[in-house]
Amino acid sequence: MTGYRGRFAPTPSGALHFGSLIAALASFLDARRVGGHWLLRIEDIDPPRCPPGAADTILRQLEAFGLHWDGPTRWQHDRDEAYAAALERLRSQDLAYPCSCSRKQWRDFPTYPGWCRHGVQEPDKPLAWRLRSDKGLRPVTWQDRLFNTQRFDPAALGDVVLKRKDGLWAYQLAVVVDDDDQGITDVVRGFDLLDNTPWQRQLQHALGLAEPRYLHLPLVMNRDGQKLSKQNLAPALPEDERAIRPLLHRALATLDQAPPETLALAPAAEQLDWAIAHWDVDRIRPEAARPATDADMAAHTP
Ligand SMILES: [Zn+2]
Repeated sequence: MTGYRGRFAPTPSGALHFGSLIAALASFLDARRVGGHWLLRIEDIDPPRCPPGAADTILRQLEAFGLHWDGPTRWQHDRDEAYAAALERLRSQDLAYPCSCSRKQWRDFPTYPGWCRHGVQEPDKPLAWRLRSDKGLRPVTWQDRLFNTQRFDPAALGDVVLKRKDGLWAYQLAVVVDDDDQGITDVVRGFDLLDNTPWQRQLQHALGLAEPRYLHLPLVMNRDGQKLSKQNLAPALPEDERAIRPLLHRALATLDQAPPETLALAPAAEQLDWAIAHWDVDRIRPEAARPATDADMAAHTP
């Protein structure tokens, strides 16, 4: 084993679909190619968005595709103390502040204008916690493995929410705390999260956490140019071997790995063995998005 530690971190708001398969498969192959660890983290910080059974379905789908992870599954629902400690640390550095504002109040602004930075506007209202993006690391730069040099000013992106008014933890804080706790060295995920990375880098810097390498992947879009998601009815990945084989092959092709045609009907394990041996990030065309084929979008019930 090398020191590489990657992860797949789905939100269990529904079953995995072809778009999530691309992210899972790429991070799996990237880890296995170098003999690294590949971990699974279920990002269930928002219970109202996570129907019962969805997480179990995700675990079954990954197993069915042969994407076996190392060690126990990490869950975010029981990480409250770690997130609270991180927020306290930010607060002690004046990098987090409570905010009473509602989205309606700042709807005429492109991002939240920071009205509560120097004192809460309406202290009796429910309070969210926000990041002082103007006081953290600026600018943020990193070398994306696919999209090369990235440079952002987080202050232009706004003071992102760290803890919501309803008391639930927000994605940005939970993801950096857990990536560090799990010793993640390499983040491989969709292009839609590229512009979240500046906040995450700011948080890592403020909390003294290690900076992982980043590889953002082209997003798979439907015919209307929307990212595949449960909301726009992307079909759930199949769990039966017959339907899995061609779909896994198409996922490898979508990642520009040019799998041989003869592999299209091979068992998942055989396709993955080939893909691990041939995984080459340099083959992936650095496009923000690419269209799904009709076959990717077909219902997968045999
Ligand atoms: Zn406010």
